[in-house]
Amino acid sequence: MPKIASVWAREVLDSRGNPTVEVEVFCDGLMASAIAPSGASTGKHEVKELRDGGARYRGKGVLKAVKNVREKIGPAIVGMEVSDQEAIDSRMMELDGSRDLSILGGNAVVATSMACLRMRSLIEKKPLFLLWGKAKLPYPLFNIINGGKHAGNDLAIQEFMVVPQQKMFSERLRCCAEIYHALGELLSAKYGKGAKNVGDEGGYAPPMKNTYEALEMLEGAIEESGYKGEVKLALDCAATTFYKNGKYQIDGQRFSGGELLDFYLDIVKGYPIFSIEDPFEEEDFESFAKLKEKGVNVVGDDLTVSNPQRVKTAIEKSAISSIILKVNQVGTITQALKTVEICRENGVNVIVSHRSGETEDTFIADFAVGLGCGYIKSGAPCRGERTCKYNQLLRIEEYLSV
Ligand code: PGA
Ligand code: ZN
Repeated sequence: MPKIASVWAREVLDSRGNPTVEVEVFCDGLMASAIAPSGASTGKHEVKELRDGGARYRGKGVLKAVKNVREKIGPAIVGMEVSDQEAIDSRMMELDGSRDLSILGGNAVVATSMACLRMRSLIEKKPLFLLWGKAKLPYPLFNIINGGKHAGNDLAIQEFMVVPQQKMFSERLRCCAEIYHALGELLSAKYGKGAKNVGDEGGYAPPMKNTYEALEMLEGAIEESGYKGEVKLALDCAATTFYKNGKYQIDGQRFSGGELLDFYLDIVKGYPIFSIEDPFEEEDFESFAKLKEKGVNVVGDDLTVSNPQRVKTAIEKSAISSIILKVNQVGTITQALKTVEICRENGVNVIVSHRSGETEDTFIADFAVGLGCGYIKSGAPCRGERTCKYNQLLRIEEYLSV
């Protein structure tokens, strides 16, 4: 089996204009590359990005992480079999030695890990999405109204998503794009043309303050586009971001965990809610469990951070029915695959996800199809770093259907 010949890295920019790490792996005359994404509402238990500090790029430079790939990770994995992902990832974790990859940088490690998987697919002459023999097109959760840390408005909840239920992926994408434009028109008519400005994930960031206002606009746009009954709604509350001094500050109120639970139960009664992500702060497994007990599809993101141990704990505590899978939360492909395995064994859904800081790298599109787990989150059908994933899914659907 071919062995890694050399590894290179450079600093490039993400969709928020911040530096990130691109890694190239060379093997058998071929090159495969990958770029690390970056979150804004990051979980406390995620692995850590390495950033330079200082004045350059306002402290966000990644030259140290790049140097670590060139001078430490590269020499450590050159000569290893590129198909032995587990050995490569373990070597990087040992080399780092910390629990959170803060020495080499989670950004350096994840881009290398992803590039190695891509190289394996080149060597095996199989598209990445066919590596595990489970290829299945996902249902996207399209985030079309942005709030929280992703937008300059007063919505506490970070993401308001639509989940079209049509049979083909291409139909789901078309449905979402039509709803997206109808929503844009409704928003400009009600709030003025500035309401069509978009947030970090391409969803509109209208000057709204209230959760129900956003839900009503989504329902209006779905109806206006003729898709009533064919589309569900989903929320990513990212509740840690509005949890202050023991209370949740939302819609001009200060809720206890119990009051917030009732707030969600009211929403579920009034709207076709597919799922609610991170409804409570990231350590409160018990409140997650209470909402799940009421029959809601509760999704862990900051709670579980794609980490096998955190996911096991959440399953033991009956806190989740689904997880968000972001490879850069846990640092390596091997760890992410372990998490997927645990979810599979326990009937927990996996939603492969982008980060709010993304790039033109389409890795997650292939990864979501390859794992066959059925769901993906890649923002709105707007902004190139979001649509490149959806466009890749269109290509894959076409490839698989001919
Ligand atoms: P992040 O947000 O990438 O800023 O963490 C995405 C999410 O919370 O799902
Ligand atoms: Zn989230």
